[in-house]
Amino acid sequence: MKSWKLFSLFIIAAYIISGIFLLSLAQTKHHISLLGYDDTPLLPGGKWHVHDINRPQPVKVTAGTYSTQARVGLPPSDAEVLFDGKDLSKWRGAKGGPALWTIRDGYMEVAPKTGDIYTREEYGNIQLHVEWATPAPLQPGHEYQGNSGVFLQGAYELQVFESSVTLIYADGEAGAIYGQYPPLVNSSRAAGEWQDFDVVFSPGRFKDGKMEIPPYITAFQNGVLIHNHTAIMGDSMNMVLPVVKDHGQTGPLRLQDHHDLVRYRNIWVRRLKDYDTK
Ligand code: MG
Repeated sequence: MKSWKLFSLFIIAAYIISGIFLLSLAQTKHHISLLGYDDTPLLPGGKWHVHDINRPQPVKVTAGTYSTQARVGLPPSDAEVLFDGKDLSKWRGAKGGPALWTIRDGYMEVAPKTGDIYTREEYGNIQLHVEWATPAPLQPGHEYQGNSGVFLQGAYELQVFESSVTLIYADGEAGAIYGQYPPLVNSSRAAGEWQDFDVVFSPGRFKDGKMEIPPYITAFQNGVLIHNHTAIMGDSMNMVLPVVKDHGQTGPLRLQDHHDLVRYRNIWVRRLKDYDTK
């Protein structure tokens, strides 16, 4: 091989080796800090770079603990506790008077025919945790077993019912969005056992009486997914179509008195904010 050929090969090899060296240097530069960068590509929306050094850290929240049958868990540190087993001060009757349900041994129980109860505060985008138990043993002669419900914005019912053995139409069993969607699966525990709903809810947007964006619900019953970002059709109704009604951006939470001795405990809510907000 002639010497100029050897020389060219040497030059090419030198280029390749120095290229690899420079690339590794560049990669080293991007691995020297975990605090972030200001020269990485902008994410769609144009506000933040990938791994943006200026992006605010999320608010710190101390996680809660899970309940057991015998013991109530702790809510997350930023939750608003709506019922801690002691009093109904966060709740009212339909007309604004005191909530008249019974409090006993760390839970509240429907006092039949005293009416639904509502939170005094109103809520929009929320994470909601509710624990409930239907009466045990089953109530002889009752057509409905353990009927109650959790109404989001006072209007959209997440059904409470004894559904471990009691049959009812699919969109009326425990975890149903009443009259619209059955739960994805039936994850009900036995009558008398504590069960829980964990819900993520966002209100709808309405214009001129029409629903432009539906209210959305994601829900778990006893840790099992029962609704996955489901579009709610309107107010929960019995035997007729859901009614489309503008409830604005907030509304009270409501628990149903369907005359059955359903119990509730450990109810808390978190108002949800967008990313990068304190
Ligand atoms: Mg109900």
